[in-house]
Amino acid sequence: MPKHAYLSASAAHRWLACPPSARLCAQEEDRGSPYARQGTDAHELCQYLVEKALGMPCRDPVEDLEYYDAEMQEAAEGYCSFVMEQVSGAEKLCKDPLVCVEQTLDFSKWVEHGFGTCDCVIVADGLLHVIDFKYGVGVLVEATENPQLKCYALGALDTFGDLYGMDRIRLSIYQPRRGNADTFETTKDELLKWADGVLAPTAKLAYEGGGEFSAGDHCRFCNARATCRKRAEYSMELAKYDFADAPTLGTDEIAQILPMVDSLVSWAEDIKGYALNQALSGVRYPGFKVVEGRSNRKYTDEAAVARAVSEAGYDPYEKKLLGITAMTRQLGKKRFEELLGGFVVKPQGKPVLAPETDKRPEFNTAANDFMEVNDHEQDND
Ligand code: SF4
Repeated sequence: MPKHAYLSASAAHRWLACPPSARLCAQEEDRGSPYARQGTDAHELCQYLVEKALGMPCRDPVEDLEYYDAEMQEAAEGYCSFVMEQVSGAEKLCKDPLVCVEQTLDFSKWVEHGFGTCDCVIVADGLLHVIDFKYGVGVLVEATENPQLKCYALGALDTFGDLYGMDRIRLSIYQPRRGNADTFETTKDELLKWADGVLAPTAKLAYEGGGEFSAGDHCRFCNARATCRKRAEYSMELAKYDFADAPTLGTDEIAQILPMVDSLVSWAEDIKGYALNQALSGVRYPGFKVVEGRSNRKYTDEAAVARAVSEAGYDPYEKKLLGITAMTRQLGKKRFEELLGGFVVKPQGKPVLAPETDKRPEFNTAANDFMEVNDHEQDND
């Protein structure tokens, strides 16, 4: 088995938590996913917009993007503005900061064959800023102590460090579809301490296929996630619950179950997806068979349908107002604001249950309103 390439920066959070996963992942086929291809398209668009904004030679990739849509355009434009703001900030530190887009960085000084491609690196006097764009929505990615960004920062330090004397290390995640722009700052000394004390020894273990299997949230990004025995044991352990002798669950019991639900659902979906693929290629699971799922009727020839309906004297088309993103693209941001700014509101989002550590403020529920009214009434007493 080739040893290179399995200790990538983008998977560092997984192999740092579970070193033997590196070898297991290398043995499993990476089946890719539409989400991954969508992310690749979004990154290409981001690269283009930033290079254009920086006056670098570039080519508009839109016609080649399979998943391009108005949401992707808006996300990439937001990312480009974020990067350009950071570049302006760096220009206050030195006249001519170095800005690298889609930069390959080599951190093999700490991780055997370790390299990765960073979305944007800004180097100014005394400051190294690493920026990563995330198009996914499933998992909120935080910048604080983010190992992927720290690996990039190490690669950048190794390449540019002596030239600019960078003591401050800034790491940013820009994740527009989660409304998340998160920045964390550390020092070169702290980063190197982590690299020598944690990264290098764990990478050595992972490279050699050693260390202990350890399951957790990071399993979601492991190629072995459906068949890994450790993850199955971990999930079954989570599902074990000592129920009180009562016909219904109490509030405290539900509160104990809630933190485990996402992990269990994700594991169950991985198992179902894997088993379906296996069954389609001939594996039989006792007690199960493959059947046809639900499907909806559809036209075989849309042009012929439109013709037939028109000839019969009806209008086959509906006229719809452009959505906000498409309308903004048509009018441009400034004109949109002038013409339509007064007609746009942002309705309250649907309530979702989140852990108390979530950064969003608490939703105003009817119960909260009631409690506040009561508090005020008591204040007035
Ligand atoms: S599924 Fe989880 S426990 Fe199993 S190898 Fe992957 S990261 Fe490790």
